[in-house]
Amino acid sequence: MDKYIEIVAYVMFAIVGLCVGSFLNVVIYRVPNKMNLAFPASHCTTCDYTLKWYDNIPVLSYLMLGGKCRSCKQRISPRYMLVEIFNALLWTLSVLMFWDSTAEGIIYAITAAVLSSVLICVFFIDLEHMLIFNRFTIIIAVSGLSTMFTDSFTEWYDHIIGGLVGGAVFLVIYFGAILILKREGLGFGDVKLAAAAGFMLGWQKLTLAILLASVVGSIVLLLLKLIRKDEKNKEYPFGPFISAGVLFALFFGSPVINWYLGLIFG
Ligand SMILES: [Zn+2]
Repeated sequence: MDKYIEIVAYVMFAIVGLCVGSFLNVVIYRVPNKMNLAFPASHCTTCDYTLKWYDNIPVLSYLMLGGKCRSCKQRISPRYMLVEIFNALLWTLSVLMFWDSTAEGIIYAITAAVLSSVLICVFFIDLEHMLIFNRFTIIIAVSGLSTMFTDSFTEWYDHIIGGLVGGAVFLVIYFGAILILKREGLGFGDVKLAAAAGFMLGWQKLTLAILLASVVGSIVLLLLKLIRKDEKNKEYPFGPFISAGVLFALFFGSPVINWYLGLIFG
């Protein structure tokens, strides 16, 4: 691509990514609250003030209003701005890393962008509500039909194996926890998410994603127990860690796994 067109493409993806991120905020708030995504128009959840167009500009409105509602001055969660920034970054990264002159590259880049948005929703909804909605898991699984033919790192059958392994391993942990600990160690939504992610990533990148999710998850939970002194049986969502691990593997799985194999077999 011409350097100039390339830069214009990145800027456009970043801006569209910001606007999509703004919509993701609506999804993250309304889906768990069983609300319609289109109606009513966005409003303050404290005073019902209906947002004008200039209150709805991604990132800028949040900064200009100082993170407060224009009408009642109630604090608005910084999550709204974070979601927009994350989504814009990941959309730009999708184009930057995967878009090339081949059909595979273009399809993979678009798939990666869509998956970024879906995984951001899974991350924040599970974090707050400990729920992973099937609609997101289904989109991730269906994306596997794209990645299994467009990911140059994997063969199509790696994705079938990934789906089976992801589902099986998490199913064993799920029932193992019920048998041994007499409670759910993780939710059944995690099992479905792992199966869908395995099919989408292929077994190699799934292994990396789960490894990262487990290590980072253990460290964070340990810190929370130590610092916040959470009670012993408090339950934590695992979906945010899976989502973050899957996102990392989706973008950096190929180079990281190649580097690791080089260390061993180099
Ligand atoms: Zn308000």
